[in-house]
Amino acid sequence: MLTLRRMAAGGLVRGTDGNASARAGELVAISPTGLAYDALRAEDICLVTPEGELLEGPEPSVELPMHLAVLAARPDVGAVVHTHSPHATAEPPVPVAEGVSGTPELGAAVLEAAAGGNAVVIRDHGPVCFGADLAEALARAFAIERC
Ligand SMILES: [Zn+2]
Repeated sequence: MLTLRRMAAGGLVRGTDGNASARAGELVAISPTGLAYDALRAEDICLVTPEGELLEGPEPSVELPMHLAVLAARPDVGAVVHTHSPHATAEPPVPVAEGVSGTPELGAAVLEAAAGGNAVVIRDHGPVCFGADLAEALARAFAIERC
């Protein structure tokens, strides 16, 4: 489990904004709210149950419900990365989802827009990318920003 949390931390520090989650066995590792990524340590990663109960770490990202909804609905997805990258948000190269930050409904909207794919942009907010693991999800997040 520590290895999984370190992996999560290693992936997360490459982003400058947004949040990320990854499966950690039966649990979910997710980035915390309100911490600068360059200061993020492995012990700052939150560990929650699939129902969202916090087991370890600080307060999870406000987008926790969306991450949990995606991971629950998509067994093929091992990690979710959400950024606020400006170009992809302004001119989305992927399907667009509508929804309010921090709500479970946002997760449903993201899943519907993705339609089995691995990337959507939340309108006027930012991209959400899925991957088998954090590396793949992050690579997609970088790729759609370059589009
Ligand atoms: Zn956001």
